Amino acid sequence: MPQGHIARKRFGQNFLSDANIIARIIEAIAPKREQTIVEIGPGLGAMTRPLLAACGHLHVVEIDRDLIVRLKQDYAEGLLTIHEGDALKFDLSTLPAPLRVVGNLPYNISTPLLFHFAGYAERIRDMTFMLQKEVVDRMVAEPGSEDYGRLSVMLQYRFHMASLFDVPPEAFRPAPKVTSAIVWLQPRPLAECNCLDEALFGRIVTAAFGQRRKTLRNTLREWFSDQDFAELGINPQARGETLAVADFVRLADWQARRAGSTAGS
Ligand code: SAM
Repeated sequence: MPQGHIARKRFGQNFLSDANIIARIIEAIAPKREQTIVEIGPGLGAMTRPLLAACGHLHVVEIDRDLIVRLKQDYAEGLLTIHEGDALKFDLSTLPAPLRVVGNLPYNISTPLLFHFAGYAERIRDMTFMLQKEVVDRMVAEPGSEDYGRLSVMLQYRFHMASLFDVPPEAFRPAPKVTSAIVWLQPRPLAECNCLDEALFGRIVTAAFGQRRKTLRNTLREWFSDQDFAELGINPQARGETLAVADFVRLADWQARRAGSTAGS
């Protein structure tokens, strides 16, 4: 094990050990001195050290107390601001915007982490993460593809995303069972994320993908009749995976307007 630390499975600890891959990630992030950068899960510092060399100061969020002790020993306070605790509960609004968020994320909580950060999209300049390739494929999937689902729609509504490159298991110690990938997310301008009721949008998307084999007529029957679908120009026999993000926004807005007008009458 690198530097005597025993990797903790419950914290999703797979430490990057391939210098070429680390260099490629840092090159993709292209950190600059004046930027506020926060690294999630610095671990043993594989990315932390080269990031610091480029940008001079870094915020890090780490949950493992043993690793925090090491980080405090290894880095001067002025270089590293250590936020001890769970990244899922970390309030990004305590840091100055615009923020750049980076990290080789713990895979066991990657989806909730992505949703947590999406809640701060207005304060974020961009995010560069290492994730399981299977998750990255779902994030960037297009309508009609097998990987397209709730994660694709919810994140594509909020972010432009690109899968940058794959990382093999051998690049880590211990090696994970799966291939990883680097993904880049940039918040879309607020004017483009103008769904009237985002909570309702989320509920409709979740329902549409809840039972993948079922038609929209079935999965969305709580909100839409065949006549509603006809007015919206959406085929009720289609399945959720055929709808574009903009179609889901249209469905949610239509329903929000109707609920609003009913409430008002
Ligand atoms: N960045 C290091 C690297 O690339 O070698 C470590 C990456 S390792 C996949 C994930 C890191 O996230 C570990 O340091 C782990 O302790 C930390 N971590 C796990 N769960 C966390 C959480 N809920 N909040 C903050 N950090 C967490």
